[in-house]
Amino acid sequence: MKYIDEYRDAEAARKFADAIARITTKPWTIMEICGGQTHAIVKFGIDELLPDKITLLHGPGCPVCVTPLELIDKALDIAARPDVIFTSFGDMLRVPGSNADLLSVKAAGGDVRMVYSPLDALKLAQQNPDKQVVFFAVGFETTAPANAMAVYQAAQQGIKNFSILVSHVLVPPAVEAILSSSTNRVQAFLAAGHVCVVVGFEEYVPLAKKYGVPFVVTGFEPVDILQGIYMAVRQLEEGRAEVENQYVRAVRRQGNLSAQQIIREVFEVVPRKWRGIGSIPQSGLGLRAAYAEYDAEKRFGLGELTVEEPPECISGLVLQGVKKPNQCPVFGTLCTPEHPLGATMVSSEGACAAYYRYRREEVVGLQSSVFSREIQVASQQLVVGEGEK
Ligand code: SF4
Repeated sequence: MKYIDEYRDAEAARKFADAIARITTKPWTIMEICGGQTHAIVKFGIDELLPDKITLLHGPGCPVCVTPLELIDKALDIAARPDVIFTSFGDMLRVPGSNADLLSVKAAGGDVRMVYSPLDALKLAQQNPDKQVVFFAVGFETTAPANAMAVYQAAQQGIKNFSILVSHVLVPPAVEAILSSSTNRVQAFLAAGHVCVVVGFEEYVPLAKKYGVPFVVTGFEPVDILQGIYMAVRQLEEGRAEVENQYVRAVRRQGNLSAQQIIREVFEVVPRKWRGIGSIPQSGLGLRAAYAEYDAEKRFGLGELTVEEPPECISGLVLQGVKKPNQCPVFGTLCTPEHPLGATMVSSEGACAAYYRYRREEVVGLQSSVFSREIQVASQQLVVGEGEK
């Protein structure tokens, strides 16, 4: 399949892995920001192909993982009300709040529905004028345009029984929070390609300059990620701190201007709490005053909530790249995808879930991933072939 198969080609991946090994002379620590990239790295064993000097850290780019527990509890409160149809993407339905998740609210009689788009939720509002239809608007810059469009259309069409529970977060402020932390170890970033499809990559330029850290906008397939790491290491070795674009087949410097326009029309930048990390100034999106009637928190009169995370869970440190999931003392024992203690285990993009799915065997001393074995075999075959000439 075009744009998939060629970016999963073991031979192309091996060439980049070899090139990274050739140019690496010092230890470097690189963070991939996006949970999708984390999953690809762990699934395909990309980190196992790198020289020992390169350390990959997993960043906070999983929107489900960073949605605060308080907001999930608010979602549960709204979803349990008899006059409400509560809608969400499927990945939020299993995320535990303090005492329950949306699926258990549904099992208890709540009208909770999975939708594929906020525009589907808007349609439900049109079809059910006697119900309040709420959409759980979670995500980074990637999901913001469609959520903004749903609110904009609701306003244009005068639909009054539709609202969104907003938990939008922005990547650059989180990156700056990591860089300015006293515990920061990150020397270069792989920026998430899909976020940059929407917003471009201009915002990273001042960060690269201020902190002397390279950024490489990177895609999600194994060859993309290896090429992104190669470009980051090359900058580090050459003493450069610039913003480069590996994902040229999808990302333009300015991003998608129409998408940015609808985001600006409906949302404004606000402070946001990130689960496991805490409040980060100007790191989220909230509805502008002109669209305040579509804010579910206001519509349902939800006040401030403060909820404690389970004390065993170190997902905050995982999300900041300070610890790896398998350094958590309850990883795979008290905390599993069936009984998650933190959102990084429940979300399909969470680092703990990725390690549980693809790296659990390391804990009991089994093999490396399928893809890295495939590349290692390709590499050995090439060495044999060269020797035969
Ligand atoms: S393994 Fe579970 S308890 Fe440990 S950090 Fe991950 S989500 Fe939290």
